[in-house]
Amino acid sequence: MTSPPEAKTRELDALIIGAGFSGLYQLLCLRDRLGLSVQVLETAGGVGGTWYWNRYPGARCDSESHAYCYTFNAELMREWQWSERYPEQPEIMRYLNHVADRFDLKRDIRFNTRVASAHYNEAANRWHVRTEAGEEFTATFLITAVGCLSTANVPNIPGLETFAGRWYHTGQWPHEGVDFSGQRVGVVGTGSTGIQAIPVIAETAAHLTVFQRTANYSVPARNVPLTEDFKRWVKENTAEIRHATRATPNGHPFFISERLAVSTPVEERQALYEAAWEKGGLQFRATFQDLLVDKEANDTAAAFIRGKISEIVTNPATAAKLADIDHPYAAKRPPIDTDYFETYNRENVSLVDVRAAPIEWITPQGIRTREGDYPLDIIVFATGFDAMTGPLLRMDIRGRNGLLLKEAWEAGPRNYLGLQVAGFPNLFTVTGPGSPSVLCNMPVAIEQHVEWITECIAHLRARDLARIEPDPDAVDRWVDQVNEAANATLLPLATHSWYLGANVPGKPRVFMPYAGGMAHYRQICSDVAARGYEGFVLS
Ligand code: NAP
Repeated sequence: MTSPPEAKTRELDALIIGAGFSGLYQLLCLRDRLGLSVQVLETAGGVGGTWYWNRYPGARCDSESHAYCYTFNAELMREWQWSERYPEQPEIMRYLNHVADRFDLKRDIRFNTRVASAHYNEAANRWHVRTEAGEEFTATFLITAVGCLSTANVPNIPGLETFAGRWYHTGQWPHEGVDFSGQRVGVVGTGSTGIQAIPVIAETAAHLTVFQRTANYSVPARNVPLTEDFKRWVKENTAEIRHATRATPNGHPFFISERLAVSTPVEERQALYEAAWEKGGLQFRATFQDLLVDKEANDTAAAFIRGKISEIVTNPATAAKLADIDHPYAAKRPPIDTDYFETYNRENVSLVDVRAAPIEWITPQGIRTREGDYPLDIIVFATGFDAMTGPLLRMDIRGRNGLLLKEAWEAGPRNYLGLQVAGFPNLFTVTGPGSPSVLCNMPVAIEQHVEWITECIAHLRARDLARIEPDPDAVDRWVDQVNEAANATLLPLATHSWYLGANVPGKPRVFMPYAGGMAHYRQICSDVAARGYEGFVLS
């Protein structure tokens, strides 16, 4: 018998981790625009990133379809037709597969491949990457495109392993789907995901019990099929749509009103909220300019939504629990919904307040709270993610002198512009903490980061430079700016939000995304590059 071939280390210019929106575009830019040798490694069996995993019932994007797409290619924008105001998960998957096929990207993506470790070798100035299957790669540049919401947070509730029924986390949903018909279902969690899934699960479950810890605001999405007129308008206005998403703080194709809630007469203000409620969607937040910076202004929006909850939900006790919201409107990521509050008027749906009586145990039969037992056949955890840092820190990433990223970030993420970490040369983090990312319409944030990284690498290569990393002083200044930007808003007042890492026990409480606005952030990054990558050390 001949001996097996020796495992070979593949040498690359760049290695990208992840094949979602970020990884696909980063591959296209580095391979086709710069001519680099590039490999993408992806855990999933296909492209799609977060959309590959989040297949729960009702999964749909909250950004409007005509702006939830790449804009780097006008032809691509014109040839793809979305069918609804908000794209559903399967349609987004079709879109990303279309992009991957159209630009022949899949040949450089290794699916079903999880990265175990990435170590920087200073002498060689190369990243040494190992997969869980033991394959090895080295690359000059390492780019993480791992997404912000891709590490499922399953709460550590005692007894889960004894549960006799089935349980699922929405972010790891089985591809074959779940049949709820005739089942007693419990949903834990009322964030954006729970709020999308609950109305759909209620349609087929025998009974649905919602376990709510923190009540949440929600505004109707008003999803509709797109008219032919609208589809034509999109094709004729690709440049304008692209421009609008680049000019607004959240990367959405609508502008924030210049009116202030506090100085608008009460009746007029109410009429504007009514109109925004009828229109639906995240625009509700744009009704007034001061909603996210002035608590008094925010209180008017919060009162309006609470009033809507009491109007819609017929059982006063249920309405009171749903409206008992402890944070300013939109200080946590604001959900939008289809019949969320209406669902509590169904006979087969009940609401349990697990703030008043916390979940204590999962028994073989169901969920036990301090007040009682709820027998269940299926438990759905819509309990969110170890957001932003989780996907990075679960890998063994080591920079200079073996410094572990997890140790460097022990007290919370520290980097420059959300793009690079001191001591980790040539590592770029697409939509990393410290960048606008989750506070922005994601494809807009992603395109900006990917293009900045691409231009940066082109700049290095054109000048025969081998390395880029941030100056630690620039990191300190940027961390201060991220904190200042958050503190200028009401966002930190939601003290238990995932923006702060508060949803994961033991995670440092640091406001992670940059809240100074996408348009402003884009300008900062462009200025840094124009000044010869100010704040970075190039060598
Ligand atoms: P999330 O916003 O973190 O919400 C998780 C929910 O689970 C919260 O209600 C939380 O309560 C609850 N929870 C967590 N652990 C619990 C426990 N041990 N016991 C009881 N309740 C518990 O997660 P998500 O809803 O998955 O959304 C995460 C983000 O994903 C969103 O904010 C959004 O950015 C994105 N997303 C987007 C879309 C879209 O575009 N359509 C859809 C879904 C998600 P507490 O609030 O008390 O912690």
